[in-house]
Order: sequence, then C-alpha cells, then structure tokens
Amino acid sequence: MSTAASLNALHDRLKPSARMPLVFLGHGSPMNAIEDTEYSRAWSELGRNLPRPQAILVVSAHWMSRGTTLVDVSAMPRTIHDFYGFPDALFEQDYPAQGAPDLAREVVTLLASHHAEEDDHWGLDHGAWTVLKFLYPKADVPVFQVSIDMTRGLDHQLEIGKALSELRDRGVLILGSGNVVHNLGAVKWNKGARPHDFAQEFDALFADKLEVRDFKALADRKALGSLLRQAHPSIDHYLPALTIAGASDGRDDLTFMTDAIDLASISMRSFVFHTA
Ligand code: ZN
Repeated sequence: MSTAASLNALHDRLKPSARMPLVFLGHGSPMNAIEDTEYSRAWSELGRNLPRPQAILVVSAHWMSRGTTLVDVSAMPRTIHDFYGFPDALFEQDYPAQGAPDLAREVVTLLASHHAEEDDHWGLDHGAWTVLKFLYPKADVPVFQVSIDMTRGLDHQLEIGKALSELRDRGVLILGSGNVVHNLGAVKWNKGARPHDFAQEFDALFADKLEVRDFKALADRKALGSLLRQAHPSIDHYLPALTIAGASDGRDDLTFMTDAIDLASISMRSFVFHTA
C-alpha cells in the first residue's frame, strides 16, 4: 500500500479531531510508579487536562533497536518489568491497555522510508507504563510503542517526529518518555543531593534551545560535544525528547512542567507542545 493510500485509510479509521498536544515526560526512577512524588502528581494533573486521545503512540527510551524503527502491532501489549532490584510491589504493576494494531501497521507504512518494521514481542516497558498509569489510570485508551534506532544520528529522531506529526490531527497523542539528562554512573543516592554542574548546564541549554525552537542545535552532536557525553553516556534517554521536538511546528506553544534534577544527574524536565 502506498503511503498516500494508507494515510487515507488511517484518516477513515480515526475520527478527525482537534490537533493533539505533544508530551515529553522525564520518567526517572521506576519507583515514581508506586510513590506519591511531585512527578507522579504532575503526571496525574496533566492527564486530567489533556484532551482524550483515540490512541497513544509512545516513544520510550527503553525500547532500543538497531538499524530499524520497530512498531508494536500487538493487540494486548504486555506490561514489561524491565528493571532489577526493586520491591515486589513494582513487579506486580500491570497496565492492561489494549494495543492499536491497525493504526500501528499504518505507522509502519508512514515510516517506511525510515526503515520501520512491525514487531509483536515488545509491549509496554517501564518508560511507558510508569507514566501512563498516572495520565490514564483506567488504561482505557489504546496504546502502542515505537522504538528508537540507536544506530542513527540525532537528527534521525527529529525526522521520525516530523513524519509522525500528522497523526496529531487524527486524535493520536504522541508521548515521549526519557530524561533530558540521564547519567546513572553519576547518580548520588542521598535525597536532595546537589545536582552536578554538567547536569544543570545541559538541562538549561536544552530548555533554552527548545524555547527558541533551535532543534538543529539540540541534534548537533559535535557542537554539544563533551557536555552531551556527560549528560548522556548512552543516548537512549535523550532521543524521545528529540522525537517530540521534531513533531512540533510553528503553531505550537511550549509549556515546561517539572524541571528538577533528581539524584544529582537525572533531569526530570518535562514539556508539552500544544496548539496556541
Ligand atoms: Zn529510564
């Protein structure tokens, strides 16, 4: 099926809607899923204020692929407990939302030139369900994940966002889940630890560039240099923020939500792009 034909099919499937916002959430520790924190409270509040989507597409830092962008087409995505050493209560969490197989297959077509492929093994990793359970606690909106391709440049993720952006007019909420700064090796476990200088510096730089929509600067690995390497020894938690930036355009206003730096090296900065 050609992209144009598949988009017509997609348009028929999803009722026309007001343009959906774009959301990026810094998810941080999985413990946010079972603790009452300033972050979980902010996610609940956001959920109460978002328009109700017809489906949710999640780009999570925890689904990494190599050479392809995978799209989960399963009918009932499983809840993945992809962490170790946490209390039983966290492993008992379940987010029983349905998938959106037909829409997910359309997304594979939409991303055909970006090496997209169907997948039916993944499900919902903790980057997705630990925040979704606050946004949509009843798990009554179909949801599916799209992976991040770790083999490509940062600008690739901006392009993926751009390609996905038209789904916003079809009732789809695009949700990115990662962290603007994520250096686990530099974490200080004492509560209230002073943030590392590099963490504050990169977080502020990110916010400044996002504010003026200089996405090119955010994807310029060379110019970001050692500061980016300190903020992201592995790039996975950064990429979903670029997807969300790439899906925005000049019609969007930007609102920042939580912006604390947790455990000295995890930025919990979250943001929403929404039509003015
Ligand atoms: Zn994570």
